[in-house]
Amino acid sequence: MVSRADTSILIAGAGPVGLALALELARRGLKPRIVSENDGPVAGEESRALGINARTLRLLAPSGVTADIQAQALQIEGLRLSSLGNPLLTVRTNRYRGEYPALSILPQGVTERLLLARLKALGIAPEWRTAVISVNGGTRAPEVTVHRDDDSGETVKPSILIGADGAHSLVRRSCGLSFPGNALENEFFLADYAYDAPVDASHARVDFTNPGVLACIPIRTNLLRYISTHADFEERIAHPAAPAAQTWRSQFKISFRHVPEMAKGRVYLAGDAAHIHSPIGARGMNLGIEDACWLAWLIAEGREEEYSRLRLPAVRRVLRQTRMLTAIVTMDRPSSLTLRNRLLPLLSHLPFAEDALLKGIAGMDTPHPPWLAAA
Ligand SMILES: Cc1cc2nc3c(=O)[nH]c(=O)nc-3n(C[C@H](O)[C@H](O)[C@H](O)COP(=O)(O)OP(=O)(O)OC[C@H]3O[C@@H](n4cnc5c(N)ncnc54)[C@H](O)[C@@H]3O)c2cc1C
Repeated sequence: MVSRADTSILIAGAGPVGLALALELARRGLKPRIVSENDGPVAGEESRALGINARTLRLLAPSGVTADIQAQALQIEGLRLSSLGNPLLTVRTNRYRGEYPALSILPQGVTERLLLARLKALGIAPEWRTAVISVNGGTRAPEVTVHRDDDSGETVKPSILIGADGAHSLVRRSCGLSFPGNALENEFFLADYAYDAPVDASHARVDFTNPGVLACIPIRTNLLRYISTHADFEERIAHPAAPAAQTWRSQFKISFRHVPEMAKGRVYLAGDAAHIHSPIGARGMNLGIEDACWLAWLIAEGREEEYSRLRLPAVRRVLRQTRMLTAIVTMDRPSSLTLRNRLLPLLSHLPFAEDALLKGIAGMDTPHPPWLAAA
């Protein structure tokens, strides 16, 4: 194997993907530099991603993060689908028979802090409040200018530059990589509510409102997230108890985009910088962490030029899957709604359909990471 210990690696962005990449490189003896324009991990109460799948747990086991996640995550039994309150289908995620649970629930802010703690133990800390402001010199010999909050700055020439700088990636735009795809018309609304005492957190629930949806995802035993296509969704929530506080409120639109190539010259993209899609299916952060783990392994092996070829099929597959799930949730033609609501209950009679669903929820529908023993 080529020794890469002295390779200069610059990671732009210390979100979950940049942190996982730095950690996977560091545990193999490489010393990446990681800069991020924000001032630390996302606030616990403003966590976008909640669902961590079995694939991510398998990938993060060697660094010790999986044990940390499992000590804190909420385990749900499954997902209940209904139409205007009438049950349609229960997907029993606890039926998944893998090494790790199909889906564990942990706020993204907590996951980022666990990654950070393990990274710190390996002697690497992100440089916060440090933004990449330009990439010049071409992708074969990138010259990266960073700017700090205290108005200082510098230009660095890494052997490898990785853009893990999110959906609006400056690295991607500076390198002239396109981001084709489309945006949905629908707007989604989100609110997290805390309760004084434990409430039923055993299942995630998706109620079709024909058209539209109101979903409820347990975050902790006393904290629930509601997501809807309806602007007035809060009036539709049947709270399990009087809420003690609304801890976060947000709204977002969904786009489906991915780069045609995940690398150009010495520049590599990972996570939302390379692909964005609907949060339905809880795949975004998981897919990005998977990118990070593959890229770290390939860099350590001196085979990073294979990254784009190896990752694109998984990216395309997940985008196709989340597009389909999103279409099922957002459909609005009365005939389609009727058909959907009649077909979904039939799935409970088809064990292979539930197995396929569980495999996707667990993230086990992408290629097995060759550096890990098969489970
Ligand atoms: C409502 C919602 C729910 C979701 N739920 C899930 C879920 O359950 N499971 C799941 O897997 N995914 C989920 N996702 C998706 C998930 O949040 C993202 O895929 C994930 O955050 C992507 O991580 P990232 O590190 O690639 O990017 P980001 O989290 O966006 O991090 C990018 C980092 O780069 C920094 N940065 C940006 N520009 C620069 C620059 N120029 N220089 C330096 N630093 C820079 C930013 O400050 C940030 O720290 C959800 C998304 C939404 C909107």
